[in-house]
Amino acid sequence: TSNDSKPCRVAVVGAGLVGTLNAIYFAQRGWHVDLFELRKDMRLPEVKATQRGKSINLALSERGLSALRNSGLDLDNLILEAAVPLHARMVHTTAGLQMSQAYGKKDQHINAVDRARLNEELLTIAEEFSNINIHFEHNLMKADLDKGELQFFTGTGNPEKTYHTDFLVGADGAYSRTRTQLMRRIRMYYEQEYIDTAYCELTMLPIKNKNGEDEFALDPHHLHIWPRHTFMLIALPNPDKTFTCTLFMPFGMFDELNTKELVLDFFKREFKDSVPLIGEEKLVEEYFNNPRGSLITIKCKPYHYQDRAVIIGDAAHAMVPFYGQGMNCGFQDVQVLHSILDKHGVKAKLSADGKIHGLHQAMEEYSKERSEDAHAICDLAMYNHYEMRSAVTSPLYLARKKLEAVLHSMFPTAVIPLYTMVSFTTIRYSDAIKRWNRQTWWINATATASAVTALGIGAGLGLRYGRPLIDAMSKY
Ligand code: FAD
Repeated sequence: TSNDSKPCRVAVVGAGLVGTLNAIYFAQRGWHVDLFELRKDMRLPEVKATQRGKSINLALSERGLSALRNSGLDLDNLILEAAVPLHARMVHTTAGLQMSQAYGKKDQHINAVDRARLNEELLTIAEEFSNINIHFEHNLMKADLDKGELQFFTGTGNPEKTYHTDFLVGADGAYSRTRTQLMRRIRMYYEQEYIDTAYCELTMLPIKNKNGEDEFALDPHHLHIWPRHTFMLIALPNPDKTFTCTLFMPFGMFDELNTKELVLDFFKREFKDSVPLIGEEKLVEEYFNNPRGSLITIKCKPYHYQDRAVIIGDAAHAMVPFYGQGMNCGFQDVQVLHSILDKHGVKAKLSADGKIHGLHQAMEEYSKERSEDAHAICDLAMYNHYEMRSAVTSPLYLARKKLEAVLHSMFPTAVIPLYTMVSFTTIRYSDAIKRWNRQTWWINATATASAVTALGIGAGLGLRYGRPLIDAMSKY
């Protein structure tokens, strides 16, 4: 019998941000999509009431926007409708001073978005496709990749269910079970690293303006940071005029600050302008009761097994959150994956032999290209941890930023600041690092030349602030 009229079936495991966008992309290719999610539907009122996700809000930038735009459904504008644009960092000193540091040119900004709303909007759009079936409360237990047989635990009635698929996409997050199943089948390179930093979220409510209306407690168009070298506090605005603050601190410090008095003393000493805005009582209540998260980097490769399975998003590459790129990178995975499927002429129908032609070669190319880029952004995210909690307060760092910005305005395509390449372009992450290394060489050369007239400051500047990244990135 001919399979010619049968649509290809894809099973996407994980209806988080990346899995749901990927389901939409596959549906638009004309594939039949089964989207499996272990949790209940997050849009149900009873689930909403109890929900506490990984982080309340996220910074969405060009890579993520580009993938939303490329869906052809105007998803970027839908999501931006309820986003708060952030044009700059606001650095808060211990003395309570605030210094604004622009992210890029005047019109360039990142966007604070509500994680739950973003996921809910994507689910609602996915549901509108007649060729997407969403299965909530389906926990992937096991996958026979060669047979395309997936076993789920559903917790209701007859709890174990088996489904068949032509292709499996694992978008089931950092602790991916799809990845574990893949590892049983291929010789996967795998490394993971936990950093000695925990995080805890605190809420900063709106204040009342003179007309009695709610107003943001801090300037809403900034990402606020209180950098203190070994720990830091950050705050991102939400559309409802609250801020979500995140305290990043070594686990041991969390353990030591174990009484109300110690916590308040610490906040008043280190982040004093934040205390009246959060409120002492709420600060203490949330510090002790909100969950504490850990931060992991995961690098692995390859991402696929023949033409049977692939992992994307955090399942393939978890990173520390300091570049605000985890979701952006996952969304870009989806765009890159589908452009490679297009390039290899992968169709929506099975061929007569029951295979999906071009898929195996497409997956080889995807794994190779994307693992290089994902490993690069994992390294950059780790580097930005140092930059955000420490370097931003250094005059040398600021001088280099200024010099780079001047060179960028004079030679816009030759010199592009690293932050701009990562957040405001879709240049491959691995290329961004290579370019940055080349630029640093030129900046050092310029600085060395100007040192003659600038009392040697320029040379010191280029060398000191080029070094840490160059050392870390020497493998690129
Ligand atoms: P997840 O969001 O983890 O979703 C995985 C889904 O799979 C979940 O719904 C889960 O329930 C489901 N699942 C898991 N196992 C199974 C199973 N066995 N069967 C079925 N379903 C399963 N990124 C940014 O771009 N910008 C930011 O500003 C930013 N800030 C962050 C701040 C913090 C504190 C943290 C921790 C992360 C941040 N990130 C940020 C990263 C971002 O949260 C992740 O990269 C993103 O959520 C990854 O999406 P995902 O869909 O791949 O995985």
